[in-house]
Amino acid sequence: VFTAVTGRKMPLVGLGTWKSEPGQVKQAVIWALQSGYRHIDCAPIYGNEPEIGEAFQEMMGPEKGIRREDVFVTSKLWNTKHHPDDVEPCSPKNLSYIVVVLNLNEFNSAVECKREQRNSSVASIKPTVLQVESHPYLAQVELLAHCRDRSLVMTAYSPLGSPDRAWKHPEEPVLLEEPAIAALAKKYNKTPAQIIIRWQTQRGVVTIPKSITESRIKENIQVFDFTLEPEEMNQVTAVHRGWRYIVPTITVDGKSVPRDAAHPHYPFNDPY
Ligand code: NAP
Repeated sequence: VFTAVTGRKMPLVGLGTWKSEPGQVKQAVIWALQSGYRHIDCAPIYGNEPEIGEAFQEMMGPEKGIRREDVFVTSKLWNTKHHPDDVEPCSPKNLSYIVVVLNLNEFNSAVECKREQRNSSVASIKPTVLQVESHPYLAQVELLAHCRDRSLVMTAYSPLGSPDRAWKHPEEPVLLEEPAIAALAKKYNKTPAQIIIRWQTQRGVVTIPKSITESRIKENIQVFDFTLEPEEMNQVTAVHRGWRYIVPTITVDGKSVPRDAAHPHYPFNDPY
């Protein structure tokens, strides 16, 4: 558990839900809560928050063993939904209160907002969490140091390299097949996914691996029963190759190019 500057506890491993279809996500969230997850990463743009709310209603409450306040729920506002009037209607009421992440020009600056009750207004508080792409091929070492200096928690999205993305390039590197990670997986009798998640948790980065598969949901949180040696931590960091899997692209003159590269605030060329 990572304690954010607000004092709120943020579990180091959460369940991602992008690409989890409405017919699958409810069961995935139920498996996650049963497996000990207390952090779920959501967004209205994923088109599945109502089903996630149904899972909460089924699993939480007096006599059900899980209290709503024990579960850290993130939601995110799309760039067109930053006006205060647009915040409340974004998320279904059954998510109750949430942590809202504002996606600013693709640079995900997180602002913790509280929605204690359905009708209360949204309070803007100092940013406490920065959600960005990070995994061994995009280690974000400078950005992590920058976050630490500012008491910001870093959350790593697409921690496994997002292999179920629709726009996967056939020649892109496959993170889960990285030999240095496979060697550590063999040594510790763990899977490559567990090594990657352990590496992030051990350096204090929150991860939100997405899965709709019961065995993987369980596997991804079973990372607290082993410790990587300092040298092994460095070995994982060393596979960094500045590779970003989540880059919105458009086709110009028959070529696929970054959609926002000409924007004056395009963030992906900076180390942080
Ligand atoms: P990811 O978590 O890196 O990868 C998900 C994929 O890995 C799925 O295909 C999943 O398969 C598979 N998988 C999960 N556990 C595995 C394991 N133990 N072994 C092998 N394969 C495994 O990708 P992601 O969905 O892009 O990122 C995670 C979450 O981050 C998202 O779901 C979303 O909540 C968040 N996110 C946020 C932003 C943002 O802009 N803020 C952007 C991207 C993602 P199955 O599901 O079939 O099991």
